[in-house]
Amino acid sequence: MRSTMMDQPLLISSIIRHAAACHGSTEIVSRVSDGSLHRTNYAEVYERSAKLANALISWGLQSANRVGTLGWNDHRHLEIYYGVSGAGFVCHTINPRLFADQIVYIVNHANDRVLFVDPSFVGLVAGVRERLHSVERVIVMSSANTMPPEAIAAGFECYEEVVAAHNSMFDWPRLDENDAAGLCYTSGTTGDPKGVLYSHRSTVLHALAICTPDVFNLGEGTTVMPVVPMFHVNGWGLPHAAPMVGARLVLPGQKLDAASLYWLTTTEKVTFTAGVPTVWGSLLDWIDENSADIAPLQCVAIGGAACPQIMAERFHKLGVDVIHAWGMTETSPVGLTNRCPASAPTALEGMTHPNQRLKQGKPLFGVETRIVDDNDGPVVHDGTASGRLQVRGPWIASTYFNFPSAQTDGANDGWFETGDIATIEEVGTVEIVDRAKDVIKSGGEWISSVTLENAAMSHSDVYEAAAVARDDERWGERPVLFVVLRPGSTPSKEGLLSHLGTRVARWWIPDEIHFVDELPHTATGKVVKATLRSRLKQ
Ligand code: ADP
Repeated sequence: MRSTMMDQPLLISSIIRHAAACHGSTEIVSRVSDGSLHRTNYAEVYERSAKLANALISWGLQSANRVGTLGWNDHRHLEIYYGVSGAGFVCHTINPRLFADQIVYIVNHANDRVLFVDPSFVGLVAGVRERLHSVERVIVMSSANTMPPEAIAAGFECYEEVVAAHNSMFDWPRLDENDAAGLCYTSGTTGDPKGVLYSHRSTVLHALAICTPDVFNLGEGTTVMPVVPMFHVNGWGLPHAAPMVGARLVLPGQKLDAASLYWLTTTEKVTFTAGVPTVWGSLLDWIDENSADIAPLQCVAIGGAACPQIMAERFHKLGVDVIHAWGMTETSPVGLTNRCPASAPTALEGMTHPNQRLKQGKPLFGVETRIVDDNDGPVVHDGTASGRLQVRGPWIASTYFNFPSAQTDGANDGWFETGDIATIEEVGTVEIVDRAKDVIKSGGEWISSVTLENAAMSHSDVYEAAAVARDDERWGERPVLFVVLRPGSTPSKEGLLSHLGTRVARWWIPDEIHFVDELPHTATGKVVKATLRSRLKQ
């Protein structure tokens, strides 16, 4: 028997329509490409997305056509999110930090018909323009007076002129909620990048879920600053969640250095922010060096890589709650969260492995988790036994966009294989032990590179650390640690080894420590361990 309820689809356009209707004057502060701050609100963003939608229709775009963006976190990018998806097209956010060849591959694979480009990426796009076969027009996210001459020479159009030329009356189509709305390619540390195609339904449900109290706890009183880029997994869903609940948005643009983030947080009274650990390390150092405090910030969500224990402790000292979040491009991205309040006095005791409070946490309602062994058999949820983590849920990818099914490594008996090794407690709390390909197997036993790195980073001289395996005749693999020291510290292997000796099992102690100036990072801030492993082989 069918219910008697309305069949109202969950659509991205309904988020911005709601925000305009109920939180129209709520401010969006945006740092634009010339470094100045632009102030707008949800009513204006709504109106300008409608103009953009009219422009796309006038250019002859058909349902589900892809529209690419190469942009920073700013108000124009937000308008594109809503104008493109709301009108029934697919908003394809592209990571501008990828190599030019990868960008060409991604744009061609996605068949993007239109590209929206920040002025800072005009040179990049102009350089590869003739290799972008499907692209018909390039629009520079700029006003007429800040259009780079190179853009004009290349025949690129001006965003503000496009918006000004179109009507703000737009009849948002009643789409199927399972239609594609967004596209994001995984960074592709192995093989070609793969596209994850989000639906309206998955996007709306994910945004609803992350607003809830034990996840990001967003509401009208929150000022949200997504430091995580809008080109990476929809800025962790924050550009959809904030307007849904009428939270104020502060978009930091291109200036992501510690001093700029600090200034924006304090002057714009940011209460909630989110990003990867590497961003926070430099912000915390800056705060220490300047003996500053970061009131009014109340909460920081840290994810994309394990939150080092020392980082959570440093935020707690500043009175800032930490939410440790786990996710992937394929999981929209938020799948697990663990709220770690500054007020919990014993929060971070226990040094040998990340404390309970630093585990990746419980699944959000909607996400289910399980761990399996090498034979795909179930592994017990006792918080100790580990296995390959698999997840499923309404905002988890089942496969990849236009990827031959034989190569699909997503769907697995209805579960998504995350590539992570984890333990799960009886009550559902997950701890990521390691990335399957990064775990170090020594004498038949696993050494968690994450735990080793955490132990190293709890040493006051260590800025960043990465543990990788080196082949070993006797043990199969042995751990090697790469360490970046804080400025002014002197390398001391003995000092670091004795520090580790009190924190990890003896057989986990790395055979070698290499002090390096910096570690190789992916475009999304993760350490590229494959590069470190190949350095060792050489
Ligand atoms: P890619 O898969 O292309 O590297 P993602 O951003 O999707 O890019 O990365 C997802 C992976 O990042 C996860 O599978 C996991 O290994 C790691 N990760 C994300 N969040 C955390 C976290 N809080 N703790 C540990 N690892 C994490």
